Amino acid sequence: MTAPKPFDRPPGSALAGGTAGPGALQPLVAEVLAALRRGAARRGGPLPPGGPAAVAERLRALLAPSALLPEQGDPGALEALVEALAATAADPADPACAAHLHVPPLAVAVAAELATAAVNPSLDSWDQAPGSTSVELAVVRALAGLVGFARPEAAAGVLTGGGTESNLMALLLARDAFPREQFASGRLTVHCSQAAHFSIARGAALLGLDRDAVVPVQTAPDGRMDPRVLDWALADARAAGRVPCCVVATAGTTDLGAVDPLAAVAAVARRHRVRLHVDAAYGGGALFSRRLAPLLDGLSEADTIGLDLHKLGWQPIAAGVLLVREAVMFAPLEQRAAYLNPEDDEDAGYTSLLGRSLRTTRRADAFKVAVTLRTLGRAGLGALVDRCHDLAGYAAERIAAEPRLELTAEPVLTTVLFRYLPQRGAAAGAETDRVNAALRRRLLEQGSAVVGRTELGSGPGSVRLKLTLLNPGTSTAELDRLIELVLAAGADSEPPDADEQRETNS
Ligand SMILES: *Cc1c(COP(=O)(O)O)cnc(C)c1O
Repeated sequence: MTAPKPFDRPPGSALAGGTAGPGALQPLVAEVLAALRRGAARRGGPLPPGGPAAVAERLRALLAPSALLPEQGDPGALEALVEALAATAADPADPACAAHLHVPPLAVAVAAELATAAVNPSLDSWDQAPGSTSVELAVVRALAGLVGFARPEAAAGVLTGGGTESNLMALLLARDAFPREQFASGRLTVHCSQAAHFSIARGAALLGLDRDAVVPVQTAPDGRMDPRVLDWALADARAAGRVPCCVVATAGTTDLGAVDPLAAVAAVARRHRVRLHVDAAYGGGALFSRRLAPLLDGLSEADTIGLDLHKLGWQPIAAGVLLVREAVMFAPLEQRAAYLNPEDDEDAGYTSLLGRSLRTTRRADAFKVAVTLRTLGRAGLGALVDRCHDLAGYAAERIAAEPRLELTAEPVLTTVLFRYLPQRGAAAGAETDRVNAALRRRLLEQGSAVVGRTELGSGPGSVRLKLTLLNPGTSTAELDRLIELVLAAGADSEPPDADEQRETNS
């Protein structure tokens, strides 16, 4: 037998765990923090200026194949790449970065994430995550209480990669509550509002449901599902020999923040004996706020609920949660793997969470959530939610008062939909759409603001701009400035003759 040669550790190969890990991490973390500061300063705004070509050019040398995978390692890589990461980021901590459900994460949650990464638990088996298994179970229990399940101790849940995965899993659990033949017959249907997230349709397709299995329920002009229309749709499906397997309500649509009337929808689902999933990826965070929680009345009637704490929860990505009313609802996902969760281990109390997820290796995302919930408490998180709601109200008032801007709807949660009205073409929808699209790209190109853009309905005149206000540190003066930027970019995006016209008018 020949012993291997003594090991010469290559530079940069220190480990993060154990008692020596913190010592190895300390100088690296200091380097990261300094590079983050330099990168943010270099960027100097919400995103790097110049558009995609300029960003790609700034990164070209750093990311060239010979630089990215050199024969001999480069000890300066961490510093150089972190600085570039920050310098080329769209930073949701900047008040002018307000397009998406893309939050500035809490520092305490990011610090907790560092600890999770260093310890590196994996939730597929108890022996990879002894304490982290308890943490996830406890976080799920706390959230089951927050959503108001009648018997939180009977509930269960799992951390997911986000609303997309939560929705897919909820549909899978609903589908597999039916005998295989029903599914194979192609008769199962899913009923959600027209404004439901696209991941519902994609999830249904992934699960092999029929192409027309997802039946969209018409929404009222406020973007909410009409429970009477749902009632008819369920009756129609049954009359046509189909089998409704799930009603999906949305608590907080991505654009309008509309919350379906959950109690009424739950009553309809119950009457038809159909499972109810609530996609509360966005709106679920309103539960932290005493003021906004009543919007979600009826949520506790759901069978399954998706929450995204990387939205109104200020977690670094990802912190999705799927909750189920009764733990037995996870039965379709049960999985026995001899090398992960042998039955005698389970019987002896070594509980593995493998059977609650579509994944095998799984991050301990519950840890940062646990730290956050305990650090801020419900009141602390509620104050952040309320602040963002207040900012949305302020922005809506400012927009409504601007003659060149048109407010689309009063905000429900923290989004504000509006559009710029060009001098000319306000009547011609297509020109208004063009100017709004162009002004948004102009702001991106300048690196001055990240404003959302969406469409309300379809056809000419449907383009809208969107502010998704998720930064509780934003001041009203900063919102004023953001609106000024939109107005200036709008004026600059109008055809030159419109400018002349305005000059002669004034
Ligand atoms: C964000 C969102 C999703 C998708 O969630 P991800 O975390 O991006 O996967 C689904 N539904 C709603 C209502 C959302 O707001």
